[in-house]
Amino acid sequence: MRGVLFDGKRVEVVDDLEVREPGPGEVVVAIAAAGLCHSDLSVVDGTIPFPVPVVLGHEGAGLVEAVGAGVSHVSAGDHVALSTLANCGTCAECDRGRPTMCRKAIGRPGQPFARGGRPVFQFASNSAFAERTVVKAVQVVRIPQDIPLSSAALIGCGVLTGVGAVLNRAKVEYGDSVVVIGTGGIGLNVLQGARIAAASRIVAVDANPAKEAVARQFGATDFLTSTEGVRELLPTGADHVFECVGRVELVRQAVDLLDRHGQAVLLGTPPAGAEASFVVASMFLDKSILGCRYGSSRPQRDIPLYAGLYREGRLLLDELVTQTYPVEEFERAVADAEAGKVARGVLTF
Ligand SMILES: [Zn+2]
Ligand SMILES: [Zn+2]
Repeated sequence: MRGVLFDGKRVEVVDDLEVREPGPGEVVVAIAAAGLCHSDLSVVDGTIPFPVPVVLGHEGAGLVEAVGAGVSHVSAGDHVALSTLANCGTCAECDRGRPTMCRKAIGRPGQPFARGGRPVFQFASNSAFAERTVVKAVQVVRIPQDIPLSSAALIGCGVLTGVGAVLNRAKVEYGDSVVVIGTGGIGLNVLQGARIAAASRIVAVDANPAKEAVARQFGATDFLTSTEGVRELLPTGADHVFECVGRVELVRQAVDLLDRHGQAVLLGTPPAGAEASFVVASMFLDKSILGCRYGSSRPQRDIPLYAGLYREGRLLLDELVTQTYPVEEFERAVADAEAGKVARGVLTF
């Protein structure tokens, strides 16, 4: 079968991958579509160290092909979206509703694939850039059949992360003020999360003025090309500032823009080891800085919730997909993403 393989030096689309049969508690999914996310490219450029060879891709949707023993929540033919969270479901963190904090969910990459007799690693417990992948049952979430799979594919990373950061982590309330720094794939989802939460003022900040129209489409009430104008719009500061770029000077600006009791939510990923600073005394007014992993999501709850909001027209998915590419055109998809031509490119199988 076909897949996008990174061998440590180069990325290529190969057609001789194999995937093993599902074991107990596992599901084989025939991938229909998978979004190209920055994290896939971070594996290639070394920002995210990962063992090789590895099949890339981590936000996908498709059809259940086969289920292993003990899997009863989905069956062959179901349309599903995949999460990257291979949480165990039985530890204390899972049981208290924090599957993103499950210690068994990260840092233990499997090797369900093979090529030429050699085992191949799975990226993010997912590897959606393959015709078929095998994942844990907990990662497979059924979605209504009328949602285009190329749009549903984006739920599993960008939407869970961005909308989840607003609803689950920041818990933005009706009437709150929100600033979103950076309007890429995550930032746009933070904007629409803030709209769903009924925030009053939603200020998008992006250095690229061409992003204004899409930012407003996703929920921004105001658009600025730098944080300098925020105080004119929100003289006492913002209740929530989301940093979605991953630059330490913007982390500092996020903290400086907070109103009393405000919170800065850090979603961008600066290089490992990067440090940011802030004025300690400024925090005394009940301010907080929040980390956020994967939108603090509970995928079996959140993915159906977002699918429902999409069907009601309240969550935009189709508008996130600026271009689809047959998987063979992976290189063109990467070039378009790196040139900033697309909000999200989606590979199809
Ligand atoms: Zn991603
Ligand atoms: Zn667990």
